[in-house]
Amino acid sequence: MDRPRVVVTRDIPAPAFRKIWACCETRYWDSQEPIPRDIFLEWVQGVDGIYCLLTERIDPEVLDAAGPSLKVVSTMSVGYDHIDVEACVRRGVQVGHTPGVLTETTAELALALLLATARRLPEAIHAVKAGEWTTWKPMWLTGWDLHGATVGIVGLGRIGSAFARLLQGFQCRLLYTGPRPKPSVADPLGATYATFEALLEQSDFVSVHCPLTPETARLFDAAAFRRMKETAIFINTARGGVVDHQALYQALVAGQIAGAGLDVTDPEPLPSDHPLLGLPNCVVLPHIGSATVATRTRMALMAAENLLAGVAGHPLPHPVQGGTV
Ligand code: NAP
Repeated sequence: MDRPRVVVTRDIPAPAFRKIWACCETRYWDSQEPIPRDIFLEWVQGVDGIYCLLTERIDPEVLDAAGPSLKVVSTMSVGYDHIDVEACVRRGVQVGHTPGVLTETTAELALALLLATARRLPEAIHAVKAGEWTTWKPMWLTGWDLHGATVGIVGLGRIGSAFARLLQGFQCRLLYTGPRPKPSVADPLGATYATFEALLEQSDFVSVHCPLTPETARLFDAAAFRRMKETAIFINTARGGVVDHQALYQALVAGQIAGAGLDVTDPEPLPSDHPLLGLPNCVVLPHIGSATVATRTRMALMAAENLLAGVAGHPLPHPVQGGTV
């Protein structure tokens, strides 16, 4: 019997690649950089499965190019806003992702970014290297305390609740918002449900953990930043599309909020001359939320499991919501 044909769109961790290679005719983009769109569209023709990253937009054009042989799209990410899930399911294509394995790692990065932004670590490191550390000065590089602060969590899902667990040692007051109260998750964490507006008004730190959907696109606009405290720090480790970056820039410049820490931006990568990068109170990371060796390897393997199940015509072990056929 013919082996299934698959496309792998990037150089992925070897254990995952070996798993796929052992069972499938594999065409892979052996690079750290994304596959060019025109090559991707050519390579997907007639394949049974696509193993992609969040850099590949999976839309009707890709599905048309792949044709009726396509059975599965497996992304090496938990977020799947780059995939038109409805269009896949309409064509009988299953969609898989990697929930759970990156939860704690991403929550840790959110906490690291929050503390780095609040305590102005990048500015302090730069000052030392630039020879600006002349003596101990009472109010030099003073930031904001996390202990005792009110932290607002937008999206108390897997990562949002893991982040809340990490905050248990900081004696914070925790607020959360989302489509509905989640007392079974929130009560053990001591988190209180609030409307989006109330959360913005009361929080010293606002941390975003919701998916990018039509409802959350540009959720953080000028009006949202106006509602926040002048001393508030905004942290986004979810998706850049949740934020209007022009509005964020204005809010930071006008002192409507005190600072921002972003692991995700729109666009990605953020151009090196982007105005946000010129602001001392904005800390930007290159989307490294899940970037530990162990977690990225687990994600790659999980995506491989989805791919192999899909090309074999089996239900995926980790389907996205609504991504089953
Ligand atoms: P999850 O378990 O599905 O959690 C998402 C939460 O957001 C859910 O509790 C959901 O509520 C809530 N939500 C949905 N719409 C909302 C809205 N309009 N306002 C507020 N909350 C809303 O997903 P997860 O595994 O925690 O991942 C969350 C997101 O993090 C992913 O979608 C991905 O984009 C991002 N992420 C980023 C990185 C990184 O490297 N920086 C790494 C991993 C993930 P319901 O359950 O009630 O629907």
